[in-house]
Amino acid sequence: MNAATPHSLLPEPVELSERDGLYLRRAIALADVARSRGNRPFGAIAVLPDGTVLDEAWNANAETGDCTAHAETSLVRKLSPRFGREVLAQATLYSSGEPCVMCAGAIFWSAIGRVVYGIDAVRLRVFRGERADQVDAELSCRDVFAASPLPIECVGPALVEEASASHRGAWKA
Ligand SMILES: [Zn+2]
Repeated sequence: MNAATPHSLLPEPVELSERDGLYLRRAIALADVARSRGNRPFGAIAVLPDGTVLDEAWNANAETGDCTAHAETSLVRKLSPRFGREVLAQATLYSSGEPCVMCAGAIFWSAIGRVVYGIDAVRLRVFRGERADQVDAELSCRDVFAASPLPIECVGPALVEEASASHRGAWKA
């Protein structure tokens, strides 16, 4: 973490249940898979309340050349043709990083009802070599979810140290 980053800018991590921790750690492991294949280190997994894993995905920007191949958007593309909105509304999407505005939009359209994420967008900006207070045109995923007519519960940041490990040295200094 950049020593110049005022601590007050960094969102406070939340505690997770054992179950949420288990699946978020799986998403973080998928981020490491993404990185090992030359992509940005992001992973996501979708799970039903009974523990059924619907599917998982990792960032494949470098592998595919597709700038929209983020983990969460790729996961929604895999799920949406196969599962109805009533099923997806029961699902939790675990993402190693806070969803960007595109991925939040994909989650919005999918009707997935709950999101748990690891490292937040502010800490990610610091890893990318940007200032923590550099807001760009960036909407928070919570801004997008708040516009949804269906409730989308959003939990995070969580397991920040573990989620950050995937990013150490993964972005050019
Ligand atoms: Zn994204």
